[in-house]
Parts: sequence; structure tokens; C-alpha cells
Amino acid sequence: MRVTLEQACDLLKSGLVIAVPTETVYGLAASIDFPNAIQDIFRLKGRPADNPLIVHAASVEEVAEYVREKPPHFEKLASSFWPGPMTLILPVIEEEVPAVARAGLPTAAFRVPVHPLTLQLLQETGPLVMPSANLSGKPSATSAQHVEEDFGSGFSVLDGGSCQKGMESTILCWKGSEWVIIRLGALPPEAFFPVLGYLPQVNLGGNGQQERPLCPGQLYRHYAPNAKLTLLESIPQERQGVVIGFSDRTYPKGCRLYPLGSSKDPEAAAHQLYAVLRQLDADGIQEAMVDMNFPAQGLWLTLRERLQKAARV
Ligand code: AMP
Ligand code: MG
Repeated sequence: MRVTLEQACDLLKSGLVIAVPTETVYGLAASIDFPNAIQDIFRLKGRPADNPLIVHAASVEEVAEYVREKPPHFEKLASSFWPGPMTLILPVIEEEVPAVARAGLPTAAFRVPVHPLTLQLLQETGPLVMPSANLSGKPSATSAQHVEEDFGSGFSVLDGGSCQKGMESTILCWKGSEWVIIRLGALPPEAFFPVLGYLPQVNLGGNGQQERPLCPGQLYRHYAPNAKLTLLESIPQERQGVVIGFSDRTYPKGCRLYPLGSSKDPEAAAHQLYAVLRQLDADGIQEAMVDMNFPAQGLWLTLRERLQKAARV
């Protein structure tokens, strides 16, 4: 059910959960002042309680009110990338951020989104705690219709159109001597070089060296359609079936293409990815091949990682 901005404010201020747009993906939002509503987000999504949420705020100043200690380069990162698709993990004043939102950790994730409707909403409601508005493990929602597919047509959604980035935020965490990327996202690692003076390392965990990844969300199967995905560097000539690939390439005869756009346009591919994965489900597709012949840098890195997660069984 689509709601107006005014209705969205009222619902959030009375302690209810609704879906709201951002430039990355749609979020399932609750006011930071309602721990019970935050708890409801976990229940609605089927999200494990040890996977914390992101606090979204209207400004850097608002974020600063919750932070115990600002790591080096915090101001520089914030002024360069906020509002926008960067999330920072910061130590918090624990009484100010409900424990349920941060899974009991002494840190929380913060972001100032750039979508104009989200900013308008945040200015009215104050900080909103939200993860992506999809059932846990499923592809993220990049339109109001996607949210309704997962939560039903009666669920309240503030419709902000199709998400401009279509990919989650890039998450950075200060690790004592440097900032590290703990989740790849809409901003590629290279974007941070001019601001930090170094290319932040990518540490997604899961390499067997750590008991627990830095970003708990990395533990779980994610972004996955019902279809079994087979990731291929090239599609063999004799193969037939569904291919997730690029509109400027030719595939073996008998293949049915679900296009991510041009192979030269990672932004378009990022924008399309979740819509394509959801379309497979809508069409009842059981198996699909994925054309993985694209660079291992920039935004392509994020796409590669998402597809690897989505293909994991
Ligand atoms: P989502 O909004 O669904 O993309 O999920 C938010 C992501 O932020 C998850 O992958 C969480 O694991 C991560 N996250 C949130 N808070 C923290 C934190 N304090 N430390 C590390 N990762 C976090
Ligand atoms: Mg998510």
C-alpha cells in the first residue's frame, strides 16, 4: 500500500515499521526511539538477531550526536561522501542507540542518504534504523513493487521510484590504523583514494582466518533468487537456457537473455541486477547461467561479489 510522506511520518512516529526508498535500495524503517519497532524489523525480514542495522540520519551533525569517538578522517569522509551511499561503522554512546539495532555491539553503522524524499522524511522523523527491505537472503528491493512482492500489498511503502544506484552502500570500518572496506557497495574502493590518500583494503571475512567477519551480514547467504545460478567466464556454444548477461553481446542460439545493460556500463548493471534476479523468480526460472566476463575492479567488483553470494548454495 503506497503512503504519502505525511502518512509515512505519522506511521513512523507512532512506532510502526514501513518501507522507504533510498538511492541504494529500499529500506525497512523504524524510528530509533522505538526499540520494539526495531525488533519488529528482524521478525518481518526473518533476519538473524546478530546482524545489526544501519542508522540513517539527515546530517553529519545528527550522526555525531550518537558517536562516542570520531576516528581519524571521519570529517573528511563524511563531507566528501554524505549525503550518499557510504556507511561508516562508528563507536557509539551506548545509551543513545538501542542495543537491538546494533546487535549488542559497541559500534553502530551510520549513513546519510541522498534520495531527496528520504532526506525530507528524516528531517521530519529524526534518525531511522533500517536494513534493506527484502526477506532475509533474497535479492534487495529496488522498487516499491519489489517491497510488496516480499511483504504483501497491504504493507506501507513510501514510493520513491526506482532506486538510482540499485546497490547497497559501501561499508567502511576504522581498524586502529586505517579504514577498511567490510562490504563492497555502490562506491568502488578507488573512490576513497583521493580522500584517504590510500586505497582502503577490502576485508569481507569468510577467508577462514577470522572466526567472525567484521561485517556480520557477510556470514549469510544473500541476494539469492530461487533459481540456481551458474557463474561462467564464457558461455559454451552448446549451452541452452537462461543467461544473465549483456545486451551488447551475442550468446549461443537458444539462450534466453535477461540483460543487465551494456558490458561497458557497470552503473547500469548495478541498477538492474536485483530487478533481473527478481524477474527470474517471477518467471518461475529454475536455473540460469551468468556471464561473468567483466573486469575485477571498480563497481564491477561489487557486482561480482553479489553474484557470488547469490549463487552460493
Ligand atoms: P543491510 O542494510 O540489509 O544491507 O544490512 C546492513 C549491513 O550493515 C549488514 O551487513 C550488517 O552486518 C552491517 N552492519 C551494521 N552494523 C554494523 C556494525 N556495528 N559492525 C559491522 N557491520 C555492521
Ligand atoms: Mg540487506
